[in-house]
Amino acid sequence: MKSKILVVGGGITGLVAAYRLLQKKYQVTIFEKSGDLGGLLGSFKIEGTNLEKAYHHIFKGDTEIISLIKELGLENKLKWYESKTAIYYDRTIYPFAGAMDLLKFKPLNLVDKLRLGFVKIYLEKENNWHKFENVLAYEWMKKWCGERAYRIVWEPLLKGKFSDRYKDISMAWMWARIHTRGNSSEKGKELLGYMEGGFQLIIDELEKRIIELGGKIETRNEIFDFRKLEEEYDKIISSAPIENVEYLGAITVVFSSEQNLSKYYWHNINDSKSPFLAFIQHTNLVGTENYSRKNIYYLGTYLPQNHKYFTDKDNLIEKDFFDYLKKIFPDFRENEIEEKFVFKFKYAQHIVTTNYQSSIYNLQSNKKIIHSNFAMIYPEDRGVNFAVREGEKAAALVPEDQP
Ligand SMILES: Cc1cc2nc3c(=O)[nH]c(=O)nc-3n(C[C@H](O)[C@H](O)[C@H](O)COP(=O)(O)OP(=O)(O)OC[C@H]3O[C@@H](n4cnc5c(N)ncnc54)[C@H](O)[C@@H]3O)c2cc1C
Repeated sequence: MKSKILVVGGGITGLVAAYRLLQKKYQVTIFEKSGDLGGLLGSFKIEGTNLEKAYHHIFKGDTEIISLIKELGLENKLKWYESKTAIYYDRTIYPFAGAMDLLKFKPLNLVDKLRLGFVKIYLEKENNWHKFENVLAYEWMKKWCGERAYRIVWEPLLKGKFSDRYKDISMAWMWARIHTRGNSSEKGKELLGYMEGGFQLIIDELEKRIIELGGKIETRNEIFDFRKLEEEYDKIISSAPIENVEYLGAITVVFSSEQNLSKYYWHNINDSKSPFLAFIQHTNLVGTENYSRKNIYYLGTYLPQNHKYFTDKDNLIEKDFFDYLKKIFPDFRENEIEEKFVFKFKYAQHIVTTNYQSSIYNLQSNKKIIHSNFAMIYPEDRGVNFAVREGEKAAALVPEDQP
């Protein structure tokens, strides 16, 4: 009789772990607390097409997810696009995609720009991240980029991503973000990958294969106490949040409209008064063809889990977000919105403080439970690629059954 394995969580990590174990003929059950699979990569329908509740793209260097896509026979759906990135600062949208854009960026002087450029090159080339582990990102970036460049470019990013905890973040996280992204460019151009028809194709194909291989999936089944299940299963792989890690939540407002607001895909909103950190015109990356020729927009931010938005009604959040959007685009016509949605994620980002490693150290000491939550991804910024890697790693930790 093959070992019985329970996988907690039907996000991409849990699905990959389950799939690998089923391929090795284990008996696998997945318990997922929500009604759908996909977790943070989950989707909904807008203008008749599946779309991620949170904006998603992948990078050229994301080898694990790219090989999974190939393995699942979905390679022809993965398309690569040149990304058009901008910064909104002091009531102006500036292109911000490469060295030329940086040179033309008016809010900074030449010395600031050179320092920013050198810091980026240095972090891309530096391979030893351990030396940054106990260094605060905001202090290091301020020291080496200079006060103004830090305040205009990096502080909004840190605040947007880590909210009121931005001063606690480790430079190792910042290193990883710049190091991996820099190494994802081709001839200075950043190419971003998106699945035609949405990343839901991957989730659906994994679900199909898991069921074909005899796996069981139970949605709306939240595990509160693992101990009760330890008797019943030989191993438990858990992608659920980890107790001694702190997390931030995230909110996205997604809408469709015929109105075309910008020529860029990604906009960092570098203004601490904005309720969202990123404005994304998804269809400026992938085109409007699959969305009844409408433009698709995301407004997104990370927030403390006790922020009022997590209990507020959707219309209150929409009001704040749309009011600010009108400041960026004074001709934004809210009455032309066709479909709109608000999504709330309670566990969206682990707070990568200095000495973070100690919070995830020694987690695998329990013989029954293998932890595989995205908070274990460190120092890299968590993402779908690493989720696939963690799922594979967790499955590999299950000992081979004796014949
Ligand atoms: C706003 C935002 C934008 C992002 N953009 C990108 C991007 O552009 N590119 C990229 O690569 N990545 C991106 N990511 C990250 C990416 O979505 C995640 O890294 C990845 O989806 C994590 O997968 P996971 O399975 O590890 O975790 P999750 O998706 O969180 O899955 C965990 C699952 O476990 C379930 N669960 C939790 N506790 C229990 C329990 N007790 N019992 C049962 N079930 C439980 C949850 O409901 C969830 O479905 C983004 C994330 C966010 C929030």
